[in-house]
Order: sequence, then C-alpha cells, then structure tokens
Amino acid sequence: MLMKYELSYWEKESFFKDIDFAIIGSGIVGLSAAIHLKYLNRKHRVVVFERGALPAGASTRNAGFACFGSMTEILDDLSHMSEDEVLAVVEKRWTGLQRLRAMLGDENIEFQQAGGYEMFTVAEAEKFKQCEERIPELNEKLGRITACKNGYQIVDERIAEFGFSGIEHLILNSPEGQVNTGKMMSAMLEKAKEKGVEIFNGIGVQYLEDENSTVRLGTEAGWEISAGRVIVAVNGFAKKLLPELDLYPARNQVLLTQPIQNLKVKGCFHYDRGYFYFRNIGDRILLGGGRNLDFKTEETDGFGSNELIRTALQKLLTEVIYPDKPVLIDRWWTGIMGLGSVKKPILEKTSSNVVAAVRMNGMGVAIGTLIGQEAAELVNS
Ligand SMILES: Cc1cc2nc3c(=O)[nH]c(=O)nc-3n(C[C@H](O)[C@H](O)[C@H](O)COP(=O)(O)OP(=O)(O)OC[C@H]3O[C@@H](n4cnc5c(N)ncnc54)[C@H](O)[C@@H]3O)c2cc1C
Repeated sequence: MLMKYELSYWEKESFFKDIDFAIIGSGIVGLSAAIHLKYLNRKHRVVVFERGALPAGASTRNAGFACFGSMTEILDDLSHMSEDEVLAVVEKRWTGLQRLRAMLGDENIEFQQAGGYEMFTVAEAEKFKQCEERIPELNEKLGRITACKNGYQIVDERIAEFGFSGIEHLILNSPEGQVNTGKMMSAMLEKAKEKGVEIFNGIGVQYLEDENSTVRLGTEAGWEISAGRVIVAVNGFAKKLLPELDLYPARNQVLLTQPIQNLKVKGCFHYDRGYFYFRNIGDRILLGGGRNLDFKTEETDGFGSNELIRTALQKLLTEVIYPDKPVLIDRWWTGIMGLGSVKKPILEKTSSNVVAAVRMNGMGVAIGTLIGQEAAELVNS
C-alpha cells in the first residue's frame, strides 16, 4: 500500500527547493531531456521524478532494436500516411539513433550493426511480392536519409544459415542494428548524474497545476513540489496526468531463452508486419510481441501477462525460429508502450510551462534521444 506522509521542513528546503526544470519519468526520453537541459545551461537545477525503483515503463524492458523501418512496416505506413510523413518518421528514427550513439558511445551501449531482417512464410507470398517490387524505390528514398545505397536486399540464401523452419523469404535492412538495453539505460543514468541532473526514484506524480509562474506537482505520497517548468515524459502512462492527449497504453510481452549451444540466429528479425520480433542476445534468443492477437486486453498500463500471447510466442519459437531441439525459457516480462491514432510522437506545450514528450509508438530506442532533446529545447524556449 502507498505510504502517505508529510514532507518535513528539512526535506522541502534541501531536496525540493528552487527547481528550474522537473522531468516526470526517467526513461530514454526523460533522461535525454534532462541531459540536454544541462547542456543548454549547466547552472539550471534539473530534477527527474521517477515512480519506480528503476525506470519502470519500456526503456529498460524493450528488445533493443536500433531499427527504423522494415519493408512491410513502411508499406503499411504508406497505406494510411503521406509519403512525406512516413519519410519524416524514418528520418527521426535514424537521427535519434545517431544522437543516442553520439551521446553514449557505441561501446557503452554495445551497438552492433548486424542488420535487421524481415521474414515471410509461404502464406505471405503476396506481401513479399509487394515488398520485392518496391525495393529499388525505397532504397533510393531511404538511402537519402541513411546514406546507404542498397539498404533493403533479398537474402533468401541465408534462411538455412539461421536454421528457421517454414520461412520462404528474408529481406535484410543492412543499416539496422541492436543495442544492449540495460547498458544503454545505465550509461544514460550515469551521464545524467555526471552532468549534475538529480534523480529521485520512488516519487510518482499524480497531478500537475500550471500556475503561470510555477508548476505545482502533487505526488502520490500526498505532498506537493513546485518547479519552474515541467516535461512530462511518462509515455504510455501519460493519460493519467494529461487526459486530453490522444494516447493509450499498449503492453508488450517478451521471453528470453536459456543459452543455446551453437545458436545460429544472429541479428534482429521482424515477423508478421513487425508484430513479432526476435534477436540474439549472445547465445540466447529474445522474442517478443503478439499484441495483435488480443489488442483489447493488451491496451493496459498494468504489467502482468497474457496466456494466449505467451502460448503463441512459445509456438513461434519452437516451430519456426528454433525448431532443432527443445529449448528452455529463462524468463518472461512485459513493458508498456504509448500509442495513439497516429504514428507520431506527441511533442507539445500543454500549458505555458508544461511540455509533453510522449507516445513513442514502440520506437523509442530509435527516436527517444532526439525527442528528449527536442523537448528540452521546447520547454526552455
Ligand atoms: C517489450 C518492448 C519492446 C520494445 N522494443 C523496442 C525496440 O526494439 N526498438 C525501439 O526503438 N523501441 C522499442 N520499444 C519501445 C521503446 O522501449 C519505448 O518507445 C521507449 O522506451 C519509451 O521511452 P520513454 O522514456 O518515452 O518511456 P518509458 O521508458 O516508459 O519511461 C517512462 C517512465 O515514466 C515513469 N512514470 C510513469 N508514470 C509516472 C508518474 N506518474 N510519476 C513519475 N514517474 C512516472 C515510468 O515508471 C517510466 O520509467 C519496445 C517497447 C516494449 C515495451
């Protein structure tokens, strides 16, 4: 049960006085914003309030794909967004990845450009054909962003090398990569502390009141804090603080296998329009997704699990991805994403001193650093 208590005079005066910028949420977006605010003016007092003992949303619980668009995802986006909008999202993802790498260093986040692959079964022959036809055009358009001439390539000859069963075609997106999510987030926390950002864990913010010269934050513990300006970076949880936003939470399920001897799977893989994804982490397989099997139940900001989705993930693992031998599962977990009616982050002032930087649409590893930096510029303007 949540403990409610009064803030002592000492606590108020020493920890929570004269806050220039308060950031709610210590995920990729919140930390990137905090670091950038310190970069804009190192004298500013920048304080991050995080509800969890650790960041407790998506940033420490994701798959670590440094990806900016599989073929079917791009074609699907083009079916309901203009070409300019789709390319703008790709560009943000690409730029975000470059900023993430520049901020933390490839070694610290174990960035590897092992490529991203998309798999197609026999039943998906028509979908594959549509992708095949568009490869030259999309290579040309995305190549202008990534400076990679032939990003998408059909690499069916590699299916046997990875050991998959029932897969007919593979399309490689060569500039895509992967990061070590845990190392990325601990490096980001380190960087924030090194820059003088103060991070308070275990403080959930329940409401915000913008009073023009200052913003009042009401905490779950029952006391209030004031800050000059505020960035709300709580992604899938934002509706509770800013109910007017076009946003809903979406849970995603992940499994990790025990180590597998002579594992052939290397790189990041997308399947079924990106609803399923898997990669190797050393000699283990991380596999996640399946939200499309039960959209309604998964529209939640509660961790937990869904038996239907777990069963589907296990089936995909043992029948398609690693059909060779029985494989043991080490652990399961879930994370919460922020989605909305459009596939674009929300980055806007919701009142004169409050900026919302939320709705990362399941691509925050890629865009999160950039959106955080843009939020810092906006709140500082
Ligand atoms: C399973 C899974 C796999 C994914 N895989 C990928 C991938 O491979 N590549 C990719 O680009 N993206 C991926 N994503 C998406 C990516 O992880 C997110 O888009 C990104 O982490 C969002 O970062 P954020 O900082 O906006 O939000 P979060 O990381 O969710 O951070 C928000 C923080 O706010 C805190 N918070 C919430 N409410 C409050 C409150 N009221 N008061 C105080 N604190 C609060 C939460 O505890 C949380 O720590 C994945 C997501 C999931 C769930």
